[in-house]
Amino acid sequence: MDHIAKRIAVLGSTGSIGRQTLEIVRVLRDKFQIVALAAGRNTDLLVQQALEFRPNLVYFEEGISSKPDCLDFCTFASLEEIAGHPNVDLVLVATSGKAGLNPTIAALRARKQVALANKEVLVSAGNLVMAEACHAGIDILPVDSEHSAIWQCLRGERTAEIERLVLTASGGPFFRYGHEAMSGITPEQALRHPTWQMGKKVTIDSATLMNKGMEIIEARWLFNVALSQIEVVIHPGSVVHSLVEFRDGSVKAQLSPPDMRLPIQYALTYPERLPNDQLPRMKWDTPMSLSFEKPDWTRFPCLTLAREAAEKGDTYPAVLSAADEEAVELFLAHRIGFTDIAKIVEATLEKHEPVENPALEAILEADAWARQFTADWSLNKL
Ligand code: MG
Repeated sequence: MDHIAKRIAVLGSTGSIGRQTLEIVRVLRDKFQIVALAAGRNTDLLVQQALEFRPNLVYFEEGISSKPDCLDFCTFASLEEIAGHPNVDLVLVATSGKAGLNPTIAALRARKQVALANKEVLVSAGNLVMAEACHAGIDILPVDSEHSAIWQCLRGERTAEIERLVLTASGGPFFRYGHEAMSGITPEQALRHPTWQMGKKVTIDSATLMNKGMEIIEARWLFNVALSQIEVVIHPGSVVHSLVEFRDGSVKAQLSPPDMRLPIQYALTYPERLPNDQLPRMKWDTPMSLSFEKPDWTRFPCLTLAREAAEKGDTYPAVLSAADEEAVELFLAHRIGFTDIAKIVEATLEKHEPVENPALEAILEADAWARQFTADWSLNKL
């Protein structure tokens, strides 16, 4: 192994982003060394990955007592220990939901590079996380495709010259559905995303457009712009990953076939771009047209709820994120309908008593309260 290889910790290595990160590392073997792998419940896959990449550190939810003998070359460590470990240069946070928050803060405090795929971290605690990043002098490297696109468009540009950030949304599978049809949507239908292959939580969030709502909040923190400067357009092709409009009216966009490996690789190799013939190319010899239209904020209330929570600030975005995570679980378990997701999130936000300028503890409390409220609401309602 080349001594200048970047040493990477992959948190959430068995999820969709984690697996694709390891695909990139397989291609760019001499550039990266996997020093830590962490997963939730998919221990079988984690063991396979560990046997292939030989990390020094592993984490899985069931803990040290169930560490298989074949992993005797790895030390078991918590997510926070991994994130702050001296042998780690870059932490890729690809956990889902709330799980990424503490490790992200631990990584920033230890002045590690952080590539962030877990948008809920910035949704619930953007203010805190950005303050930690600023204090540590670390830029958070976005992995979300839209934010990677904006980041790429902004290279060499000045923040003060940005007029608008335009986030593209595929619209998900139901973007032409009427309200009636929407209430009958099953988890199986919602998990069939037209353009992207992703984990379950983000796929459901894409179908409700909560994902795009959360991306508004994510963009606001990553690029330090006002909420009023962020727009959403529906672009069903998922070829333009987002756009930046500047104050002279010029617009820059980033295009590529929809494949998460590109934004992952860009975050890992930044500021370099490295050749990788596994990544798909645009086909300029086939006719192609790009279409854009306004989203329907009424038919997709999650988009509105996210924007309102962002405008109110304080602990509202944390509550939005927690309530949504629980509601998506309930929907996937067939316990509530598709349109109930927005109803639960709305009811939770309405009942929330916010904490101003919350510290981490207040955010975690608001998160726990929202999860409990969501569970009670679904029990009483059903
Ligand atoms: Mg995205």
